[in-house]
Amino acid sequence: MGSQEVSSTVDWQGKHVTVAGLGVSGIPAARALHERGALVTVVNDGDDERARAQAAELEALGITVRLGDGATLPPSTELVVTAPGWQPDKPLFLAAAEAGVPIWGDVELAWRLRGDDGRKPAPWLAVTGTNGKTTTVRMLASILEAAGLRTAAVGNIGVSLLDAVLGETEYDVLAVELSSYQLHWAPSLRAHSAAVLNLAPDHLDWHGSMAAYAADKGRVYEGNTVACVYNAADPATEDLVREADVEEGCRAIGFTLGAPGPSQLGVVDGILVDRAFVANRQKQAQELAEVTDVNPPAPHNIANALAAAALARAFGVEPAAVRDGLRAFRPDAHRIEHVADIGEVRYVDDSKATNTHATEASLAAYDSIVWIAGGLAKGATFDELVAGAAKRLRGVVLIGADRALIREALTRHAPEVPVVDLDRTDTGAMSEAVARAAELARPGDTVLLAPACASMDMFTNYNKRGEAFADAVRARADESA
Ligand code: ADP
Repeated sequence: MGSQEVSSTVDWQGKHVTVAGLGVSGIPAARALHERGALVTVVNDGDDERARAQAAELEALGITVRLGDGATLPPSTELVVTAPGWQPDKPLFLAAAEAGVPIWGDVELAWRLRGDDGRKPAPWLAVTGTNGKTTTVRMLASILEAAGLRTAAVGNIGVSLLDAVLGETEYDVLAVELSSYQLHWAPSLRAHSAAVLNLAPDHLDWHGSMAAYAADKGRVYEGNTVACVYNAADPATEDLVREADVEEGCRAIGFTLGAPGPSQLGVVDGILVDRAFVANRQKQAQELAEVTDVNPPAPHNIANALAAAALARAFGVEPAAVRDGLRAFRPDAHRIEHVADIGEVRYVDDSKATNTHATEASLAAYDSIVWIAGGLAKGATFDELVAGAAKRLRGVVLIGADRALIREALTRHAPEVPVVDLDRTDTGAMSEAVARAAELARPGDTVLLAPACASMDMFTNYNKRGEAFADAVRARADESA
């Protein structure tokens, strides 16, 4: 069964499908395929209590589960469906490639199963990029809702695509967040329109190289029908549009924080304007919203709003709905979230800044900063980030496994800045980090958690890291009240 032959009209009856990984995407995938008559085997590396409980539930349905061995490909496998995070060089995938067995991720499966119950599938407006995906997708959903469309923000964002596609709710259009991992495993995805917000080194340990990472991001443009939206300030995103194979008539649409050229959206005198989806783009510009309609109106977030607006306009949404949708939008937690002021020091939680590109945006938003950073570097280097921010750093508190990498960059580019190096990873570590940051801060400063690293060395995820920070800050605020 070659990847082209398996389509939404496939007869799943009796097909041998191996699902790689129990978990948020694996379990619904196994169930959906089993319901369609496939012979499903789930393989999973872990063999802990939770995995056993999940396995028992699937086995009760008649699904085979193999715990403790995610490496070996069951011999009769005709298709592998994988959790998006599984590294592509795993032995299971190498064996599949050697045997000519196609590998689909959760997004590919959702794309292939959409409409197989006879309902008309909703088109996808897709968003990827190194940073700003969740924010942009939520802004987009808010705009589409304001236009009266039945929609949801789905994908790498909480609601799984499979649930959205197979669930009972009918949608006119979906606002879809896609990670580079998901795109890697989604060869036949064809969005209505898509945006790549920006491209900076991230997850290079997974993809192997910047070129491979960019190529996976670029897949989001493949087969677009109306618009490929790129960031005019980030030429790498425009290169990806140029390299994509799109439908006849699909347009390249840029967004810029400056005045827009023809076929761009941009900003003029504090107004977001559209020079792309207007009758005469040489002469005409359409007002969409004011910069102050964007929450918060930080530069990187205005860029996100323009990208969301471009996708909505590509789908035919009227200007007033763009404005209403942006006004109604509220940012998610742990994204430049103001936690408290203690004395004259502001405490801000940007735990979601898990890479240097995001951290660069958040360090640029404040003048004098005590920076809490560190965690898992994922192959990143910190020289550029530290050199760019050195002048605004009052002090730095370093936490986590790869903190030496940041400390070395500080020694090279900001030798005057005091650094506290916390050599502990227990649950009290974040409280101590906040306490040490408070000692370094002077009135008017901002203590900013923007780690530039992943959190999993010390926390379950970035939410937990942000909560630990906010709890520690609130405890101090209560003490000082
Ligand atoms: P993602 O879903 O891509 O991780 P989020 O919207 O959750 O993106 O934001 C992640 C982090 O990136 C946040 O810390 C935020 O401050 C920062 N950020 C958001 N938008 C941008 C952007 N356009 N450019 C750079 N950094 C951004």
